[in-house]
Amino acid sequence: MALIVQKFGGTSVADLDRIRAVAARVKAAVDEGNQVAVVLSAMAGITDQLAALVSDMAPIHDTREYDTVVSTGEQVTAGLLAIALQTLGVTARSWLGWQIPLRTDGVHGGARIEQIAVTELHRRLGRGEVPVVAGFQGIGPLGRITTIGRGGTDTTAVALAAALGAERCDIYTDVEGVFTSDPRIVAKARKLNKITYEEMLEMASVGAKVLQTRSVAMAMKHRVPLQVLSSFSDNPGTMVVDEDEIVEQELVSGIAYARDEAKITVVKVADRPGVAATLFGPLSDAGINVDMIVQNVSDDGKSTDITFTVAQNQLEQSIAALEAARSKLEFERLVADPNVVKVSVIGVGMHSHAGVASTMFATLADKGINIQVISTSEIKISVLIAEEYTELAVRSLHTAYGLDDD
Ligand code: ADP
Ligand code: ASP
Ligand code: MG
Repeated sequence: MALIVQKFGGTSVADLDRIRAVAARVKAAVDEGNQVAVVLSAMAGITDQLAALVSDMAPIHDTREYDTVVSTGEQVTAGLLAIALQTLGVTARSWLGWQIPLRTDGVHGGARIEQIAVTELHRRLGRGEVPVVAGFQGIGPLGRITTIGRGGTDTTAVALAAALGAERCDIYTDVEGVFTSDPRIVAKARKLNKITYEEMLEMASVGAKVLQTRSVAMAMKHRVPLQVLSSFSDNPGTMVVDEDEIVEQELVSGIAYARDEAKITVVKVADRPGVAATLFGPLSDAGINVDMIVQNVSDDGKSTDITFTVAQNQLEQSIAALEAARSKLEFERLVADPNVVKVSVIGVGMHSHAGVASTMFATLADKGINIQVISTSEIKISVLIAEEYTELAVRSLHTAYGLDDD
C-alpha cells in the first residue's frame, strides 16, 4: 500500500466523460489498496476564458480580484470529480485551497506555496477517503484567495506530495510523458523513460510546458519521485530521477522552445560605465524580468545598442518603463519585436563535451536562420530567432543531435 498523489491537467478533465474516466482511474488505484489524493486543474480552456473576462472588464485590474475569478475553474472540476467518485462508491470530498488550508505568500497571480496543513487530510486518507484538491489556488496572509501562476496545478500536486510524504506524484496529462521535444511540433520526438531533475528543470524553464518550472524545483528540493504520464492510455510514462539513476546519459536530452518572448533593442544608448544598471534598474523596479541580453560593440566609442528579451505580456510595460527613464538613459530610440522565439538545446552531458554549441549554430546557419541573441548555462544553449522559423529550427536541431525516433 502506498500514498500517491495523482494530478490531472485541463485536457484530462475537459468534459464529464473525461472526469468519469479520471474517477475510474482513481478508483482503480484505491482498489489496489493505495491511499490516493487527487489534485485537479480547471477544464481545458476555462482559465483562459476567465482571465479574458477579467481583462475585458478592465485591462489594468486588482490582482486580488483576478485571483478570485480565475481560481473558480478548479472549484468546478474538484466538485464534479468528488461526485463522480461518489457515484462509483468511493468516499471522496472536494477541498479548496482555503479549506485545507494551503497557505501562500501574498503575491497575487504568482504566489508561492508556504505551508499545507495535512493532519486532517492524513486522517481521512487513513479512512480510505479520497481528497480531491483544487489545484492552482491557496490562501494569502490577509485571508484572500491567491493563485500560483499559470500551469500551477503541477506545483500544487508536488507540494501536496511533499507535505503528505507521498511515495510518488503522478502527473497525468495529454501526452505519454516527457519527450525529446514537444511531440505536437516534432513528429519524430521520442518519449524519455527517465530524465534528471536538473534537465527537467532546465527544459521547463526554457519553455517545455509539460511541467511548471516551480513544480520541478520543488520536486528536486524535497526529492519527490515524479512521474509524467498520459490519462488517455495505460502506457508507462517518464520518471524524473537523480542523475546517478541514469546509466547511459545522452549528450543532449531535448530541444525546447518558448514563443512568449519579446525582443527590445535600445538604439544608440550612451556607452559609459553604469549604463546597464541605469537601463535595467527601471525594468526591475517595475517587476519585469529580463532574460537574454546582448550589448553590441560600439563603433564610435560614444554610443552602443543593447538588445534583450522580456516576457511578451510585459512588452508594453517594459517600453513604458524605459520611455519614462529616457532623460536619464539618453538613447535614440527603442525597437520592439514580439515575433521572436527562444529555442534551447538541453543536456547534462554537454558540460563535459565540446561541440554542442557549434552543431547548433551550424544547423541553423545551414537552414538560413539568423541568430539574434545567444545565452548559455552549464547544461543549456539558447538562441533567439524569428518566430516563423520555430518548427524548422526545432525539427532540424532534433535531427542534428540524433534525437529522431526511427
Ligand atoms: P496539462 O493541461 O495536462 O497540464 P499542458 O498543456 O500544461 O498539460 O502540458 C502538456 C503539453 O506540453 C503537451 O500537450 C505538449 O504539447 C507540451 N510539451 C512541450 N514540450 C514537451 C515535451 N518535451 N514533452 C512532452 N510534452 C511537451
Ligand atoms: N488552470 C490553471 C491554468 O490553466 C492551472 C493549471 O491548469 O495548471 O493555468
Ligand atoms: Mg500544465
